[in-house]
Amino acid sequence: MRQEELRAGALDAARTLLPGRTTIGVLGGGQLGRMMALAGSAMGYRFVALDPASDAPCGQVTPQITAAYNDRGAARELAQRADVITYEFENVDAGVAALLTEESYVPQGSELLYTTQHRLREKAAIEAAGVPVAPYRKVGSLAELTAAAADLGLPCVLKTATGGYDGKGQAVIRQTEELEAAFRQVAPGAEAQHGESEAPELVLEKFVKFKCEISVIAARSTSGEVKSFPPAENIHVDNILHLSIVPARVSEEIQQRACGLAERLVSGLNAVGLLAVEMFVTEDGELFVNELAPRPHNSGHYTMDACMTSQFEQHIRAICNLPLGETTLLTPVVMVNVLGQHLDGVIQRTGHPDETAKRLGIAPKLHIYGKTESKNGRKMGHINLLCKDTGDGLSWVEQTNLWRN
Ligand code: AMP
Repeated sequence: MRQEELRAGALDAARTLLPGRTTIGVLGGGQLGRMMALAGSAMGYRFVALDPASDAPCGQVTPQITAAYNDRGAARELAQRADVITYEFENVDAGVAALLTEESYVPQGSELLYTTQHRLREKAAIEAAGVPVAPYRKVGSLAELTAAAADLGLPCVLKTATGGYDGKGQAVIRQTEELEAAFRQVAPGAEAQHGESEAPELVLEKFVKFKCEISVIAARSTSGEVKSFPPAENIHVDNILHLSIVPARVSEEIQQRACGLAERLVSGLNAVGLLAVEMFVTEDGELFVNELAPRPHNSGHYTMDACMTSQFEQHIRAICNLPLGETTLLTPVVMVNVLGQHLDGVIQRTGHPDETAKRLGIAPKLHIYGKTESKNGRKMGHINLLCKDTGDGLSWVEQTNLWRN
């Protein structure tokens, strides 16, 4: 109830939770929880995490309750041990979210989670905030897909409304002949013709011929203060983020407009904490929002070494109602993800003088997440390359030969 009152606009009642006397409970013990706990511990906050894995990245740096995410007893224990609860992933079990909001203080609430867990709800919320998304249609059958494709025109992208990530659960459709195969791929097991009950929930989006993809992370505190970080230009390989380049290689005007849209969204959606906003930039400078994530985001890792405040510190500040930190970029930076297949090479390299970095005048800052099992495509760490010019950071990535696979 307390938090419903807060979110209903009684903002002056927003609680300020001070370091030294506050324990923050984190639902999820992955790398985002770990980096949140590292940043918050430096500020004087205590943490407790809930994660099913006994040696999770966050649990290595903070006390942990080891239990399944949907274990109500464990969620209750988290609520008892913490003064405030946050989460590091979106797919929080609805029952656990309800329990935590009732029995504890969750300044972020659960509404935004509910919205962002479903692409159609998310798009409707983005549009309601007056922010553009690529044209789309709701689709539940092959017949609806055919009609929607005729309406929007090809090429299009078919996506599941729930559960897809890193490009899974989606298909690009370039020709009418591909419609049926795309439907079968994205909604396996669904009947091409359906009765209402078994209709899959899909969304067909117009394919945006983007010049580049950018993201902006905005923060809003419980008392309504809003700030955004400089846009990152994101390059994906096999649908997984590979590089974030900051400043993004778009005009100053586009950067400002992108920050404006992210700030409008974080306010319009009444978000508390961080909201990561992924956008497409077209050749003529139009911006379309693709996806939202109500949490710290991989494309914001560059802030850890390159901004006055990191996204993790900002998140803690926002949920604890401290004044938000300055987001100014201190240096150009390229963030490169270290996946399972890159990890050994990266670790070995750190044991030797980095002549390439010296020659290019860049400082590589290594962050490894402590995951016990390394797998192809699994995010094991990242490197922030602080440089005079992002071109030098990109040269380092090229010349080290570690990311060719
Ligand atoms: P998503 O799972 O929605 O983040 O999509 C994964 C990736 O697919 C994006 O980062 C884009 O590179 C690409 N993509 C998704 N939707 C579209 C679209 N409507 N137009 C063009 N590319 C898209």
